[in-house]
Amino acid sequence: MALETTTARQAAKRPTVKRSSTSVQRWKAVTRKLRELGSIGSALASTGHPYMAHIVPMRRCNLACTYCNEYDDFSDPVPVDEMLRRIDDLGRLGTSVITISGGEPLLHPELDQIIARIRKTGAIAGMITNGYLLMPDRIERLNKAGLDHMQISIDNVMPDDVSKKSLKVLDAKLKMLAEYADFHVNINSVVGGGIANPSDALTVSERALGLGFSSTIGIIHDGSGQLKPLGDEERAVWDKVRNLTRRSYSRFNHFQEAIANGKPNDWRCRAGSRYLYICELGLVHYCSQQRGYPGVPLSGYQTADVKREFLTEKSCSPNCTISCVHQVSYIDHWRAPQTSQITPGASSHDAGQLVQIR
Ligand code: SF4
Ligand code: SF4
Repeated sequence: MALETTTARQAAKRPTVKRSSTSVQRWKAVTRKLRELGSIGSALASTGHPYMAHIVPMRRCNLACTYCNEYDDFSDPVPVDEMLRRIDDLGRLGTSVITISGGEPLLHPELDQIIARIRKTGAIAGMITNGYLLMPDRIERLNKAGLDHMQISIDNVMPDDVSKKSLKVLDAKLKMLAEYADFHVNINSVVGGGIANPSDALTVSERALGLGFSSTIGIIHDGSGQLKPLGDEERAVWDKVRNLTRRSYSRFNHFQEAIANGKPNDWRCRAGSRYLYICELGLVHYCSQQRGYPGVPLSGYQTADVKREFLTEKSCSPNCTISCVHQVSYIDHWRAPQTSQITPGASSHDAGQLVQIR
């Protein structure tokens, strides 16, 4: 079981284009860091506002990864005026980071306007994309709109039936980003969820770091929400990638470690409060895997709702694999035990237990 597979060796031979940042890029990086530090300071000072929201302007995707339950192949973009209203609502609640998700956000024809509006609220603007539609001029437009962060998840080296988010296809896009992007780029590699060659994650991470991007590794949650321990080969790759990308993980090791071992975590999920998931219908949900709770319009969401959910225990938290919500919740891990178990939207289910969507 050698990690040095043929594909890894082939990838290692690819020319590496190391980023040499311009003064504009360095200035943007410094001001972005200062804004991030300010957002963490304000989250420490007050529990009454969301830290991060994921918002979906487009449920349609140009790919069809078999493990994904977050896309369709037919829906229209959310009209831009409606998207701008929703961004303003997130601003009204004091949201610090607004990340555009999907579906595939780059399919939305007015994406740049949405990004610019996020920045206008004072929030940090992020985007999660499969990267297929990136071109130099598209990247320049994202720079101009004020994008702060982009994340691309790359699932394998060669496309297969599970996923076409492959290094072979996306390497050209990564080179474009290295050359043109003023924003921070993170490349996420994955193990689990039917990914055929676990060692691909190592190849992807090495390539990302070689291009000057940051890199993280995640475990694919398969839609059933069940924790499964990693197999031996997946585990070896997981350890290697985490050693490569140690800085990204030091604070969250124990959470990630438990997921990798298929063990439950003991933590306070602040979804509905510090973290909001806004679907294409403009409804607030706990997260992508708990849509329907509380499932109410963002336009009516108030600080009182944020405060109630801060103190509401989520019954799904022990087996949760959604690390972004864990990271956001970590800000408040030291305070405010959750005293309520009343979950809006849960009345139709037995004993108020949250039921993850499939
Ligand atoms: S690219 Fe992303 S949104 Fe599209 S099907 Fe794959 S995982 Fe889902
Ligand atoms: S514990 Fe996990 S699955 Fe449950 S609401 Fe929180 S983020 Fe979503």
